[in-house]
Amino acid sequence: MTPELRIEPLNDNPVNGGGDYVLYWMTSYRRLESNYALQRAVELANQLGKPLIVLEALRIGYKWASDRIHTFMIEGMADNQQAANGVVPYYCYLERNAGDGKGLIQAAAQHACAVVTDHFPAFMIPRMVSAAADQVDVRMEWVDSNGILPMAAADKTFSRAYDFRRFLQKNLPDHFGDMPESDPLSRLEHRGGTLPEEILKRWTMATAEELGNPASIVDALAIDHSVPPAIWSGGAAAGKARVKSFIDKTVELYTTDRNHPDADATSGLSPYLHFGFISAHQVFQALVQREGWSPEDVSEQTKGSREGWWNMSPEAESFLDELITWREVGFNMCYHEPETYMKYESLPGWARQTLEEHADDPRDYVYSLAEFEAGNTHDPIWNAAQNQLVREGRMHNYMRMLWGKKILHWTEHPKDALEIMIELNNKYALDGRDPNSYSGIFWVLGRYDRAWGPEREIFGKIRYMTSKSAKSKLRLNAYVEKYTSDQAQLL
Ligand SMILES: Cc1cc2nc3c(=O)[nH]c(=O)nc-3n(C[C@H](O)[C@H](O)[C@H](O)COP(=O)(O)OP(=O)(O)OC[C@H]3O[C@@H](n4cnc5c(N)ncnc54)[C@H](O)[C@@H]3O)c2cc1C
Repeated sequence: MTPELRIEPLNDNPVNGGGDYVLYWMTSYRRLESNYALQRAVELANQLGKPLIVLEALRIGYKWASDRIHTFMIEGMADNQQAANGVVPYYCYLERNAGDGKGLIQAAAQHACAVVTDHFPAFMIPRMVSAAADQVDVRMEWVDSNGILPMAAADKTFSRAYDFRRFLQKNLPDHFGDMPESDPLSRLEHRGGTLPEEILKRWTMATAEELGNPASIVDALAIDHSVPPAIWSGGAAAGKARVKSFIDKTVELYTTDRNHPDADATSGLSPYLHFGFISAHQVFQALVQREGWSPEDVSEQTKGSREGWWNMSPEAESFLDELITWREVGFNMCYHEPETYMKYESLPGWARQTLEEHADDPRDYVYSLAEFEAGNTHDPIWNAAQNQLVREGRMHNYMRMLWGKKILHWTEHPKDALEIMIELNNKYALDGRDPNSYSGIFWVLGRYDRAWGPEREIFGKIRYMTSKSAKSKLRLNAYVEKYTSDQAQLL
């Protein structure tokens, strides 16, 4: 059964036992496996003796909509359509003009017993979903399939990773027994529902042919065509392949090579996690299998230390600290602080104070958004990182930290730095617009961190980073060369 803790009602309406089907509105967990929301929808359908319908839709009128984001998502829809074939009715709607999709969910819900959707706590999803819940007449609930710890399991916001890690070490074992079913649709008892004809006439669903050729759709949409498709393909199949290759080949380098841009030794899973093409549980389980680990192996010590608690290899422990502690502390923040997680005012008091005290310090360099965006600063290392982001839709983790710190260094005010980081990250990064976009960006300004000395100009007590020190301790020459535009030279 789907854990109660993961299910939250979005309205007070009753289930309509006379409806034709249960509707699963897929907004964020864009996969048919290892998905508590889909699992919950299957359970409801079975309880009510009704079929299940899956509806995945993609609108165009959202911030940062671009060829890059749309193509990645349409590739995911093609996978889902193929996987659903003969298993569950799957409808995929692609909005062609802003506003065309309006009313689709309400219309489909009119014939439903209940609506189940995904509980993604960031970007436009909470607003979109709660607006829909106000307009449907049946019970609507959202289900949390984001992480290993249910978001509702912690009743407060954690402001330090250390405290969250301690909390995880005490509480995570309660949830190891509740992994999502890998194939929830295999338990679906009643197959063969369909959306009513009038809905299909008004909202034409995408065909397999269209989904197989995203450019045929994307080119005609009123979205940002200046951000081209990324180097990676979207979808559950590509996500699973990446998990396999990371666990088989790359994870063993994670402790030694993770920070070296030339080694490119991280998993590259964040875009697949962000769009829900894979679950954190699938990644966790693949690692557990590699390690031959079982829940009894965890240490009794719950002191919040990064190593030793899992009793896995050092590379696996280090990776899990990112996948669970760091990834999920961001979900914790968005869940508990939905109105402020993206605002400057949500920074810890000490960070705001020290940044304000140094806001008027003279800056040697100040760049505009356009100069940053074009990778046009005096620093070839920074420019290389920005070029990677623009060209490929990703940026190496260490470079991401440095990238943010230098934006803070080279803007008039920390609030400008925040705006520029959010704009560039969310516009270009495949994994942008995620709870971890805000964790990472706000970490640059002090969130989850502590005060550091010596106190410096501009940064005050905020942790300081420089390209010079990155160059001296990391292997990054090949990275810089690869992502350097013609005019830039290595420092
Ligand atoms: C300025 C800045 C902006 C960032 N923007 C984003 C963003 O938009 N989306 C995003 O998912 N992450 C963001 N991060 C966090 C981190 O850089 C990426 O999650 C990581 O680089 C993704 O690469 P990977 O999948 O190869 O990571 P791996 O090292 O293979 O880690 C596995 C998974 O753990 C999680 N993870 C790893 N590092 C972190 C971290 N520092 N914080 C939170 N979760 C982490 C991710 O889900 C990642 O996929 C940002 C960090 C900074 C400093």
